[in-house]
Amino acid sequence: MCVKVLALDLERTLIDDALSARPRPRLRNFLTFCDQRFERVVLFTTVDESSAREVMEDLDRRGYVPRHLLALLEYVDWTGEYKDLRFVPDVQVEEVFIVDDDVSWIRPDQRAQWIAIAPWDGGPDDELLRIESVLTNLADGTAPSGG
Ligand SMILES: [Mg+2]
Repeated sequence: MCVKVLALDLERTLIDDALSARPRPRLRNFLTFCDQRFERVVLFTTVDESSAREVMEDLDRRGYVPRHLLALLEYVDWTGEYKDLRFVPDVQVEEVFIVDDDVSWIRPDQRAQWIAIAPWDGGPDDELLRIESVLTNLADGTAPSGG
């Protein structure tokens, strides 16, 4: 399986919410992994682009975002009731995977591209480590574990 683009949700996935922008535990390690492992990393979020970029720049100033990733990070411009992966430019839907805590944003016919992460609102948490291993298996061509 060829994973060309990794799409990341922002709120409850990487941070708590855009207002307080608290980083999820292991955020820097996770983003470093994503940066090294995938050709393209994109933000796919309900937060508007300028606020989302502000959040990422703020996280960068606090040391949670690798510079290389920040420089290349794309923002997916989208509308509608789903985070339709066809909004990601220059790639086939089958080559995009999205990490998101909320199934209601995922198009029913694109669930195979979805990597579910437990929503985070603060506190100790190992989800980013778990997702890292799910993504490693994907990138290595192993079938994703169900669920
Ligand atoms: Mg979310």
